[in-house]
Amino acid sequence: MPKFDFQIPTRRSLLAGAAVLGAATAASAQTNNNPIEGKKGGTILGPRNPSREAENPDILRPPPTDNGSIPNLKFSFADSHMKMREGGWSREVTQRELPIATTIAGVNMRLNKGGVRELHWHIPAEWSFMLAGHARITAVDNDGHNFIADVGPGDLWYFPKGIPHSIQGLSDDGCEFLLAFPDGKFSEDATFAITDTFAHMPKDVLAKNLGVDVKALDNIPQQQKFIFPAPLPPALQADTVGSAQGKVPLNMAFRLMEQEPTQAPGGRVRIADARNFVISTDISAALVDIEPGHMREIHWHPLADEWQYYIAGKGRMTVFASGAAARTFDFQAGDVGYVQQSMPHYVENTGIESLRMLELFRSPRFEDVSLTQWMALTPHELVAAHLDINKELVDALPKDKRPVV
Ligand code: MN
Ligand code: MN
Repeated sequence: MPKFDFQIPTRRSLLAGAAVLGAATAASAQTNNNPIEGKKGGTILGPRNPSREAENPDILRPPPTDNGSIPNLKFSFADSHMKMREGGWSREVTQRELPIATTIAGVNMRLNKGGVRELHWHIPAEWSFMLAGHARITAVDNDGHNFIADVGPGDLWYFPKGIPHSIQGLSDDGCEFLLAFPDGKFSEDATFAITDTFAHMPKDVLAKNLGVDVKALDNIPQQQKFIFPAPLPPALQADTVGSAQGKVPLNMAFRLMEQEPTQAPGGRVRIADARNFVISTDISAALVDIEPGHMREIHWHPLADEWQYYIAGKGRMTVFASGAAARTFDFQAGDVGYVQQSMPHYVENTGIESLRMLELFRSPRFEDVSLTQWMALTPHELVAAHLDINKELVDALPKDKRPVV
């Protein structure tokens, strides 16, 4: 048995402890928690939100290179409305939450074991990354080809615009995933659900359409189910419906983690776009791992805006928006970031664990331009003359692209 030695604090020791705490608080107020840098800034006397300030050290005390006005580039799923249903939940970060994010809207969804995201379709395509657990997904295309697959952690799926589909959480504990739609104004509240469709077509029309007696439709739901609990499906083979038209010609699922990653000095990158995930024409993606102390190099994307989703770890990003405007944001797991087309940025791992993030684009292809590679492959005297640096520095730059350094 371990021996516990409790010492009841005296009033004197309590007061001494409080004095130490008070001194520590005053000291950290001078150094850590206030917008003070050298002779600039001052203490905050008014109301404070210490947890928010701790999450955003580069907002509280921006690097001196930040300048001008740049719109907000961050929103956390932790600040999104949680839509709870029997069977799971969903929450979304769209243009309504993050106004700059015009090209992509994101949805984070949880389906409990057996929980179903009901049969539905929507105007934009749907791209998804499985965060945890397993799901069965189904779809049928316009030519009567059908699709069914089980997906797990790190798998992607893609349903083209207007193609009806479903998702169901499997054992042991259902699943959770991130959905991305190539339209910032999209909302999960604006999908075409099979239940809602039935509730708003005249019943005699539905009966005539299906060739059944109208009485067979007595119990159809009066409103959409959205997410609902259902029995677990049988094994994949037993659940597969034969189609005379055959299976979908392009696979709607993609095993991203089975791709050999591009290894970089400080991490690795896996890219999924229309070159390897052929059906995914409206969204391209990169899954980036950045080890502690390393960073995604300074780069920009010539084809499209970047919608970021932080899966693990902590990081910071500065975006330079031309015209001397730049702003730095801090991110952690569950946050969404956004960078407009061609604006240079980096993502630095500021934590003690690996930083994992998704870069998503409304584009059939992933493309980025590397600042270092550009400099290394341009006449070195010319580059050196711009930046007042030694030509030898430019000579030594790597000519291959190193996405994480
Ligand atoms: Mn959908
Ligand atoms: Mn980027």
